[in-house]
Amino acid sequence: MTRNDRSRKTRAELELELAAVEAELRILRDDRPNAGTFQQQMAEALHSLQVHQEELKSQNEQLRQTQINLELTSQKYHDLFENSPAGYFIIDSSFSILEINATGMEMLGRAKNRLVGKPFLLFVERASRRALDDHFLQVRGGPARCELWLQPDQRPPFPVILQSLPLGQSWGDNWCCLTTAFDISDRKAAETALRGSEARFRAIFEQNPVAVQLVEAEGGGRMSNRAWTRLWGQPGPDGAAPPDAGMEPHLAAAFAGEQIDLPALYVAPNGRELPERWIHAHVYPVLGADGGIGEVVVAHEDITERTRIARALEERTQRLQRQYDNLRALSEIAALPSGFGAAQQLAAALDLGRRHLGLDIGLIVRIDDRQAIIEHHGAPPERGIVNGSPLDLADTFCAVVIETDDVLALPDVAASAYADHPAYRRLGIASYLGAPIRLRGQVYGTVAFHAAHPTPRGFDEGDIEFMRLLARLVGAVLEQEENRRDLARSNAELEQFAYVASHDLRQPLRQVSSYVSLLARRYGDRLDDTAREFINFAHDGAVRMDRLIIDLLEYSRIGRNQKPIEPVDLGEVAADAAANFRAALAETGGRIEIAPGLPTVRGDATDLGRLFQNLIGNAIKYRSPDRPPLIRIGVVTLPAEHHLSVADNGIGIDPEYHETIFRIFQRLHTPDKYEGTGIGLAICKKVVEQMQGRIWVESMPDQGTTFHIGLPNRP
Ligand code: ADP
Repeated sequence: MTRNDRSRKTRAELELELAAVEAELRILRDDRPNAGTFQQQMAEALHSLQVHQEELKSQNEQLRQTQINLELTSQKYHDLFENSPAGYFIIDSSFSILEINATGMEMLGRAKNRLVGKPFLLFVERASRRALDDHFLQVRGGPARCELWLQPDQRPPFPVILQSLPLGQSWGDNWCCLTTAFDISDRKAAETALRGSEARFRAIFEQNPVAVQLVEAEGGGRMSNRAWTRLWGQPGPDGAAPPDAGMEPHLAAAFAGEQIDLPALYVAPNGRELPERWIHAHVYPVLGADGGIGEVVVAHEDITERTRIARALEERTQRLQRQYDNLRALSEIAALPSGFGAAQQLAAALDLGRRHLGLDIGLIVRIDDRQAIIEHHGAPPERGIVNGSPLDLADTFCAVVIETDDVLALPDVAASAYADHPAYRRLGIASYLGAPIRLRGQVYGTVAFHAAHPTPRGFDEGDIEFMRLLARLVGAVLEQEENRRDLARSNAELEQFAYVASHDLRQPLRQVSSYVSLLARRYGDRLDDTAREFINFAHDGAVRMDRLIIDLLEYSRIGRNQKPIEPVDLGEVAADAAANFRAALAETGGRIEIAPGLPTVRGDATDLGRLFQNLIGNAIKYRSPDRPPLIRIGVVTLPAEHHLSVADNGIGIDPEYHETIFRIFQRLHTPDKYEGTGIGLAICKKVVEQMQGRIWVESMPDQGTTFHIGLPNRP
């Protein structure tokens, strides 16, 4: 209170003072001791009265102003009361509504007259009535608070917080309280949504098959899901994974803001508790509401099984790939054309084996009594291995292979039962793989690979199967070679016989023919015509026999030339052969056309000359009586073959005889019609086949004949 305020008197005081002044005035009026004094006192009293009156006026004015202010304030409070966002209810001792604000009416969806005087309980959802009873019971003793659901008219119930406060005496003698209701529908909805999402995220976290751990910043706790516990067992006291998981440095990095992905992390076994594991780990920070990193998530996906399967698959694929490579390489060797000699095929097989097995020495060993003889080898020259060198069989692993009649695989001889074997002790063979070779059902020897160092990868089933196949291949090549040698030997013998026979036959024939001639010359005039005719027959027969023997001799000579195989220009050979028929062509009006570009091939020039000679000769001999002979020699060169053709326009050959004409002595005509011995085409066939080629015919009677020759196209 200011001093001014303090000097101001209250209305009651003023009234008291006024009464005192009036009493004074009365006394004065009644006593009047002296006029002078009285006058003065009167004047003072009047003055004082005026002062008091003024003060009274001012007080009245203030009072009016206060009244106005009071009404304004009351209106403000009324407005505040009515329009508050909270519902206000004055509740009497029977818990009926005495007074209610506009918000309260709005909350309950009813007009004032439907609410005032009614128990509050009527406007509470049935399930909340118990809570309301408790609440009102509590408010008897002092302020109370509860949550319950109001039931408005025509609207669904909604949640509120009720706060009640007993009101004082100023509200009358009867007990009453002020109950405030706050609508918490939004908060409840948000809470429900939050609870829902919390439950969802917890379910995702807990049920996730990936092991997840939430790690709070430095010193904070860790939260692990079930999969984590399944994977790592109960986390240690500090909540961490087993130390070998090695997450610590990654955690630090994630707290620094990094996201880490470790696709394949090996976790070594930890005593007996945890087996070895492969983990796909993610470590990443979680941004808090303030933008800082409050937590880091560690997710471990157990990829042990997957990794194991992937590895097994990888190994299997590699093995299969190796087996496939082996088989392909073996089939390539097996498919080498027979023109490649056995030695080349065997060298290729040994090379393949050495490369495939990673062993630097490959051997094909023949067993002869108690000796092992190296027949073929593939080895670096510095190893000084020589074909034909014999070894004592007992010193070699060959003996073991032959004895067991199966593949012997010793990736590390020193660590095997053969550590004391002389092959290791004396010959220094530290890893060995060998298989038995059979030839015509008999044991021949072995094909084997070895090295002076062990083979740490070992030899698997694929390698053993490879050796079996290789041994069979080698056996087949050796057998083929042996057959070829046998055949060559018997051919040579036969040819020798044919040569000698034909050579020796000519001598008595010449004798027959010369005596027949002598007979004709000396006694011709003494003989009759029939006898002379007989002598002519005998002479012709001898001449034909001689031609036959000459042709046979020629046939047997093919391939017996000792001349080396060299490049032969077929253009030149064909031209030379054609030149020999110049006279015959002139006589018949025929012609030969040789296409340009006939190839150069490797072969015997004399034999190739015979080939063209025979084909051109036949084309002229078997010409059509209706047209002069036209002979065309052509070529088409293909990647693997030179395809030559000799075509004529002669009498043609019935398809029935297309095969037989190539056989020796096979003729389609009698000598009186066409001269010949039936050896020409047999010679052609032999020449072509000597060069690994083929010959065939295409013809129809009276439509000409084409002989086709395929010769290998080799540099
Ligand atoms: P030759 O000519 O001595 O009888 P070849 O072996 O040369 O013996 O021929 C065998 C047979 O093939 C011949 O008798 C003939 O009938 C037939 N021949 C060969 N070449 C031709 C050809 N160009 N045209 C028709 N027939 C042919």
